[in-house]
Amino acid sequence: MSGSGPEAANARLAPVVTDPASGGFFAAAAQGRLTVLTCSDCGGRTHLPRPFCVHCGGDTLQWQDIPRRGRVRSWTIVEHQVHPWFPVPYTVVLIDVDHCPEVRMIGYLPGRAEVSEKTCVVADFEDLGADPKGNSVVLPRWSIEEAEH
Ligand SMILES: [Zn+2]
Repeated sequence: MSGSGPEAANARLAPVVTDPASGGFFAAAAQGRLTVLTCSDCGGRTHLPRPFCVHCGGDTLQWQDIPRRGRVRSWTIVEHQVHPWFPVPYTVVLIDVDHCPEVRMIGYLPGRAEVSEKTCVVADFEDLGADPKGNSVVLPRWSIEEAEH
């Protein structure tokens, strides 16, 4: 086989990490930081990235660290494969990030994850290597928080 499919079992579809709107997110991820745009004027968080603050309209936004922990708000288990790079089953989770009521992130969990609205998830980072131009491609990787005993 050649062409469009995965070339190795662990091959991944990588995002563009140099886009002006979202590049800061990936640059921070390459440093092991989970960030969202935060307004220097009002302190509000703007997620997904935009060139202006969604709260006050200000344009002095900075990438600031947010907790790498949250709670599952909603989820769906994908059983129908729609792309050759994403074999099923897998679980897509909507995450309420701790202490950031205006930030919800989308996460991927492998397989049919057993989650509920009480499930806490934590993020570490997965290094996918370099893109063709040599930029590091690092993605947040969510997993279910181990229960404390
Ligand atoms: Zn603002």
